Amino acid sequence: MKELKITPIKNGTVIDHIEPGMALKVARLLGVPDPDAHSTVSIAMYVKSGKMKYKDIIKIEDRELKKREVNIISLISPNASIAIIKDEEVIKKSRVTLPKVITGIARCSNPNCITNKDEPTETEFTVLGGREVKLRCMYCDRLVDDIIESII
Ligand SMILES: [Zn+2]
Repeated sequence: MKELKITPIKNGTVIDHIEPGMALKVARLLGVPDPDAHSTVSIAMYVKSGKMKYKDIIKIEDRELKKREVNIISLISPNASIAIIKDEEVIKKSRVTLPKVITGIARCSNPNCITNKDEPTETEFTVLGGREVKLRCMYCDRLVDDIIESII
């Protein structure tokens, strides 16, 4: 008998292969659980996984992710995959891809950057892949110190 760690959902989104230990941060950035929506949210952390050893999983009932939200997930967890569930069937499943450029998602950590001035300019960052994702400001070239903390 296969033990069910989290209940399957009928309609909604499953974010799988999240970096182990990061699920709560991802959930916070996605604004779930949302007390107004009453959607069921299941979070499993440090689930044993053949490929990555451990992974986190988030299942959100009755919610689809916006492009911006998928981009945020890719910055924190470049190996994550997202499945859309309709009537208990997976209708679409794909791995997140790192965007080359992100606009308006993060704040620049340089206080003197033009994007932090009185008349705010929308931030724009080049996304650098590799073992750890890095963001470089297109205005001042500063690398973002802490991606999670800098997300707007
Ligand atoms: Zn900057």
